[in-house]
Amino acid sequence: MRISFLGPPGSGKGTQAERLSKEFGIPHIATGDILRDTIRKDTSLGKKVKAYLGMGRLVPDDIITELILEKIDKAEDFLIDGFPRTLAQAERLEKTAPIGILLFFQVSEATIVSRLAQRRICPSCGRVYNLTSDPPIIAGVCDRCGRSLIVREDDRETTVKRRLEVYRGETLPLIEYYERKGTLRYLDAEGDPDTVYEKIKRIVCGDDNSEV
Ligand code: AMP
Repeated sequence: MRISFLGPPGSGKGTQAERLSKEFGIPHIATGDILRDTIRKDTSLGKKVKAYLGMGRLVPDDIITELILEKIDKAEDFLIDGFPRTLAQAERLEKTAPIGILLFFQVSEATIVSRLAQRRICPSCGRVYNLTSDPPIIAGVCDRCGRSLIVREDDRETTVKRRLEVYRGETLPLIEYYERKGTLRYLDAEGDPDTVYEKIKRIVCGDDNSEV
């Protein structure tokens, strides 16, 4: 099973991918997390990547593709969120490991803005929280490792605007690409995480054709 989650920032790709990967034992490749790990290493590559994320821009195709394909080559089955995000990435992925399902997370802009404003992240283990739907047990502190939670730098208002522009310009054209391949599935990603998760399971397990 090779699945990719595609959608705007804040559509819930990472949260849902983590859950699905745990339940079905599919290796999860989280593109944003891989990039944030690269930044933490503070190498020259890390500094370059940091600059792109800080501006709300996409990391160049050659850099991201190399980082991701290195992981994919080793995995027969995978669930990837946040890749591909451009046509060049999609074409490269198709050559290496064609995906079976491209799940497109559809949410309104109002939902995106509100979810990103509510998102907090642990700078140490990367656990993601939502202050309303999935808050930490102790306010401001990571349940897993006790570190203080932070707002992701690229979740600030001006950067979010830029990320949405980039999403519309560079990532949305992928819909047509995967539609032509017959692997696109639409997901209504509004609503609470449990409801969305049940819909994902129905689509992935082939029990729901209503949104295809
Ligand atoms: P995410 O955590 O998936 O929202 O990704 C955070 C940031 O990482 C994005 O705003 C981009 O700057 C970068 N990024 C993630 N995935 C990709 C990708 N496939 N191609 C280029 N840049 C990416």
